[in-house]
Amino acid sequence: MTDRAREPLAIEGGRAIRDRFLVFGAPDIRREEIDAVVRTLESGWIGTGPQVAEFEEEFRRYLGTAHAVAVSSCTAGLHLSLIALGVKPGDEVIVPSMTFVATANAVVHVGARPVLVDCERETMNIDPIAVERAITPRTRAIVPVHFAGRPADLTALEAIARPRGIRLLEDAAHGVETIHRGRKAGTMGDCAAFSFYVTKNVITGEGGMVTTGDEEIASWIKVAGLHGMSKDAWKRYSDEGYRHYEVSFPGFKYNLTDMQAALGVPQLRRVEENWTRRAALWQQYLTAFADLPVFLPPPVAEGDRHAYHLFTLILDLDRLRWTRDRVLRALQAENIGTGVHYRAVHLHPYYRDTFGYRPEMFPNAEFLSQRTLSIPFSTRISEEDARDVIDGVHKVLCAAQC
Ligand SMILES: *Cc1c(COP(=O)(O)O)cnc(C)c1O
Repeated sequence: MTDRAREPLAIEGGRAIRDRFLVFGAPDIRREEIDAVVRTLESGWIGTGPQVAEFEEEFRRYLGTAHAVAVSSCTAGLHLSLIALGVKPGDEVIVPSMTFVATANAVVHVGARPVLVDCERETMNIDPIAVERAITPRTRAIVPVHFAGRPADLTALEAIARPRGIRLLEDAAHGVETIHRGRKAGTMGDCAAFSFYVTKNVITGEGGMVTTGDEEIASWIKVAGLHGMSKDAWKRYSDEGYRHYEVSFPGFKYNLTDMQAALGVPQLRRVEENWTRRAALWQQYLTAFADLPVFLPPPVAEGDRHAYHLFTLILDLDRLRWTRDRVLRALQAENIGTGVHYRAVHLHPYYRDTFGYRPEMFPNAEFLSQRTLSIPFSTRISEEDARDVIDGVHKVLCAAQC
């Protein structure tokens, strides 16, 4: 431990580890992105157009999937995917309780019931045994999340879902670079939805992508995401001559714009380089925190790849005098931004009141909810920032130790 990590805590009036606040999940925007957005603005075409088409094509090739359709967010992509997979009001969809609420909200949006299940404590991913137990004749789909970038066990889920005709929708919001037994996230389920929200691994400000191997699903999603207007409606104002469109059902307004896609193209070209940098930071954190009262993320299995989206410390509260929230406040006072990923879905008032979920129903999700703490972990973190985070975490956790 360095000397400055022994000084009085900032939360108790001492000097903070950093003078400037280190934002959690700051976006890594470079010259290429700025130039690309300016070029798009200057082109006069800022809506859905050629940049979106290019981003879709590069994403499709990166994953090695048949179809990629850009949408305005991962939430929009989950919503459209659930409809495309035939989920209807009254159906049940199995969702992990340990996820961002958007996963479950999308199920509510189609009028189906989100059947929450517990996760595994170590991997934080949906527990296939809990999934199997939750299946009823009304189960229409399962939505695994590649939590923090760690691959969910799609092999086990496929064995449960396929013989029963249950559809699989991957929530790949954390998983652009995730690989499960040699297969990339977004190529295993019937559909997958990715997020390019500001804190994710590839960002467009707001944005998402649906990938699928099914031609029919892909073309339906394309139409359903733009008012239900017939295909290629976005070409209406191009020099190819005016085209009339037709609406055969009332779709949604879920399209990505060229301004956003212009950010995504250079981001995607750096995706592997960025992954390598985060992999190094991951190892640095693992080494630095080995002796602290925390549970650290375990390694992934042979043939798997972690996308390294979130670095989460699971506080060992039995060895600490403080709650997670006090640790979080103390770190913020040291000018180190933190996140909580997540408070389990079943603990939120809407889910308790509407579906009768209660605390203690999902012990692992709850264990993690009370202990998890994400620390700054992105390609924007300099070597100096990383040292600040490491010293800050040591300073706070050593003070909080029993
Ligand atoms: C961020 C996130 C989403 C939602 O992504 P948006 O693009 O913001 O809609 C969904 N699921 C998980 C697990 C996420 O982390």
